[in-house]
Amino acid sequence: MQEKSSGKMVRLERYLMALPKAELHVHMEGSIPPSLLLRLAERNRLKLPFSSAAQCRKLYAYSSFKDFSNMLLLGVYCLRRPVDFHDVILAMGEGLVLHNIRYAEITWTPQFYLNRGCALSEILGAMNEARSKLAARFGLEIRWIPDIVRSRPEPASAIAEWAASKESTDAGVVALGLGGPETGYPAGNFASQFSYARQCGLPANPHAGEGAGAASIWQTIEQLNPVRIGHGVSAIDDQELVAHLVRDALPLEVCPTSNVRLGVCKSYASHPLKRLIDAGCVVTINTDDPVLFQTSLTNEYAVAIRECGLGPDDIKAAILNALRVSYLPDFEKIRMTGSFTATFEELDSRFLK
Ligand SMILES: [Zn+2]
Repeated sequence: MQEKSSGKMVRLERYLMALPKAELHVHMEGSIPPSLLLRLAERNRLKLPFSSAAQCRKLYAYSSFKDFSNMLLLGVYCLRRPVDFHDVILAMGEGLVLHNIRYAEITWTPQFYLNRGCALSEILGAMNEARSKLAARFGLEIRWIPDIVRSRPEPASAIAEWAASKESTDAGVVALGLGGPETGYPAGNFASQFSYARQCGLPANPHAGEGAGAASIWQTIEQLNPVRIGHGVSAIDDQELVAHLVRDALPLEVCPTSNVRLGVCKSYASHPLKRLIDAGCVVTINTDDPVLFQTSLTNEYAVAIRECGLGPDDIKAAILNALRVSYLPDFEKIRMTGSFTATFEELDSRFLK
């Protein structure tokens, strides 16, 4: 009996792996494989607190947000020259392709790199070289979401102006993000930067309702007029807010493993993913920081089914939601949705019937 159910699980995981996917919430800084981190440190003559990929992976067993943040900053520390960014995007893209991700919107934090001795546009240029290679080799489409950090407000205007410039939007920048600690750093502090970006045609795509409660989501909605919300899981505590999200079809980028690992939710079983879907919210499923949380989009779908109570139809709906609420032009959305739906049908009859 047990053998039969584990065989069924393996089949389900193969199915989830094979599904064509789109990911909207994944950070470059949380996606640097340990072997590449070591290579970057060596060529930039930097010291790391580990000397092998295996030792590095042991440090991913965080017990606090601070430990997580320190590991993320180690990646930032190793990114020195444009070629480093190129190599990270190439490695990251190869990781996405392994999971059949066909489209990704990658968040990164330009203000970490303002003192690297090269212009942001040079960095973005190197990232775009990798993006072109990934498109040519694997058909992977990528767009960029530079973000502002809530706790470091002083370069925010410069970042917003750079992100909203024609040069940046021509180079694949599709939205302006907002990350960092929510408590004590309200979204309203950045209303003018997001208003400027919106006037230039660049939509707001902030994190909210991850490290703080529903009030932080309300404030973010009122002050920044977002097109999507990163996380937003604390909305579940406020039924009026859930009704608002449903009425406005304001999409949430839900990242289950990230929430469990950082203590936003106690367990997968208590995660609000299914309750948000059942309430009618537009939900997408994402990894946030796949290397730092030792996860993948396939794994997020697997835990969503195994532990959060979702079924394969919920997963397919979340994938199509991701395409629909992406920043792709409409003709691309239609093309990819058609191709994904045809592949879903073929995979359903191969694995689920
Ligand atoms: Zn995030």
